Amino acid sequence: MSEITNPYTMVGERLCMDFINTVSWRESTEKRRDWFTSYAKLVDWSVHAEVLTVQQAQDLLGEAEKNPSKAEEVLNQAIELREVMYRLFKSISMKTSPNDQDLVRFNESVSHFYQSLQVIQDENQFTLKFIQTDKNLDTMLPPILQSAVNLLISKNELERVKQCEGDPCGWLFFDTSRNKSRRWCSMADCGNRAKVRRFYEKGK
Ligand SMILES: [Zn+2]
Repeated sequence: MSEITNPYTMVGERLCMDFINTVSWRESTEKRRDWFTSYAKLVDWSVHAEVLTVQQAQDLLGEAEKNPSKAEEVLNQAIELREVMYRLFKSISMKTSPNDQDLVRFNESVSHFYQSLQVIQDENQFTLKFIQTDKNLDTMLPPILQSAVNLLISKNELERVKQCEGDPCGWLFFDTSRNKSRRWCSMADCGNRAKVRRFYEKGK
């Protein structure tokens, strides 16, 4: 759970996990820090996550300037979706059933964004794509949502969804290690902190 850095720390191994991890010290009331303090920050992160191109980002920021209240609305929508996804995947990491209300909220986003899904002929094959115009300020959200859907409906992959054991980090990640032994968001961060703590506790 590093502090906000540029480039942003991305250790989730899945787009949806990195999106969820845009809050530092998630589980701490005093230290908690949301990276999405403005619509521009959401756009900036989305470029870094390769959800948007630099050109798309510029267009969106231009559009946001013309319609700040809509941009604010999209920012709030993104944060709400992120928090719903956080609670869903956290409960999965704890092997408990998600809250019904969270699943309802998540599905509302699925129904909303899947309206823009279209089959597109691309050279000699067909692909399924979210079609939104550059004027859609929420154009970064469908791919993120899709990443969460893919993970949720995957077979045998959900058991790799874990929460960092660093307290009060709260970050989630997809454990790609062969023996599913990853415990921390990052060895250099929470992993190291735990090692130092163990060292001192042993010394006492
Ligand atoms: Zn951590």
